Amino acid sequence: MKFETKAIHAGQFPDPSTGAIMPPIFQTSTFVQEAPGKHKGYEYSRTANPTRTRLEDNLAALENAKFALCTASGCGAITLLMHLFKTGDHILCCDDVYGGTYRLFTKVMKGYGLEFSFIDMTDLKNLDRAIQKNTKAVWVESPTNPLLKLMDIEKISAGCKKKKLLSIVDNTFMSPYFQNPLDLGADIVVHSSTKYLNGHSDVVGGAVILSDQALRDKLSFLQNSTGIVPGPFDCWLILRGLKTLAVRMAAHEHNALTIATFLQKHPRVERVIYPGLKSHPQYTLAKKQMRGFGGMISFVVKGGKAAAVKLSQKTHYFSLAESLGGVESLIELPAIMTHASIEKEVRETLGIVDGLVRLSVGIEHSDDLIQDLDQALKS
Ligand SMILES: *Cc1c(COP(=O)(O)O)cnc(C)c1O
Repeated sequence: MKFETKAIHAGQFPDPSTGAIMPPIFQTSTFVQEAPGKHKGYEYSRTANPTRTRLEDNLAALENAKFALCTASGCGAITLLMHLFKTGDHILCCDDVYGGTYRLFTKVMKGYGLEFSFIDMTDLKNLDRAIQKNTKAVWVESPTNPLLKLMDIEKISAGCKKKKLLSIVDNTFMSPYFQNPLDLGADIVVHSSTKYLNGHSDVVGGAVILSDQALRDKLSFLQNSTGIVPGPFDCWLILRGLKTLAVRMAAHEHNALTIATFLQKHPRVERVIYPGLKSHPQYTLAKKQMRGFGGMISFVVKGGKAAAVKLSQKTHYFSLAESLGGVESLIELPAIMTHASIEKEVRETLGIVDGLVRLSVGIEHSDDLIQDLDQALKS
């Protein structure tokens, strides 16, 4: 089955009791049993809920995986995974990681005795050098946020296999439409379904996706025990969003490539970062491991913080907001907004300068978006 078809049909079937073509929202906490212990596969909605099962089956299919476990948010998915580890375990993480992931690792999980090293994994030698006796996993985000650096998922995963480390990839930025980390050898994929998967900026959700049965059983136990589960209505909304994932992603990419090309030539712009531009230092890797380049663009405006702040307040179609992956375009300043929780010195060594602007390019018409950016840059 091809991606577009899977997005609509995988794990879906008409409701057996009514024929409803769309899945019911099973808004129920408990399920009546015929006899003690005799039930239809569902007992209590924290453990499993039929609307959630439909979403999990669909997501597993989209990542060419066997299993998916949905959580109440992307951070919930990361929290769930952290429960696989125990005091004294060490995790290697790419340096330019999502701000919320960095906060969870350094401000919460560290307090429970987990150790983290943040390294530049674009150079694989750094990775080899950073492995310790107690290293248990490697955490990869590709492309990273907001600098859109790429990690070679295939090479990193192969290295992890040799050293018996778990390889985990946050695939939020690409969505399964453009990148499938499990096919590149990774063990586990994480998503914030808040972003492209749902795509309509009306749900917060997350997912852990994998094919290993033993790991899945462990995570399923943890999902039920920790209770980081989404409600049935949120699952239903994400399922609804997924049906158009393929057409949305193609439109996001078309607009992003058009806008990145426009920005590159703009006199008020210092530098444009987009994996689909030949000027991106890892353009070749992008073509190798992704089927497209996504809808996120970062660029540095001339004039630093003052210019960036001004620009962010002059756009009409690009709304000033955090988050990404919705049908509507967003603009944000990482140093002040999404990445403010990272210490200033760390931020600047990473390259998250004050003049950096991040765009989540929506699926409006590219002419309107370009005109909007042009008038804002000129003002
Ligand atoms: C948003 C995001 C998360 C966290 O997801 P939430 O749904 O906001 O909890 C994790 N990783 C990446 C790359 C994200 O963009």
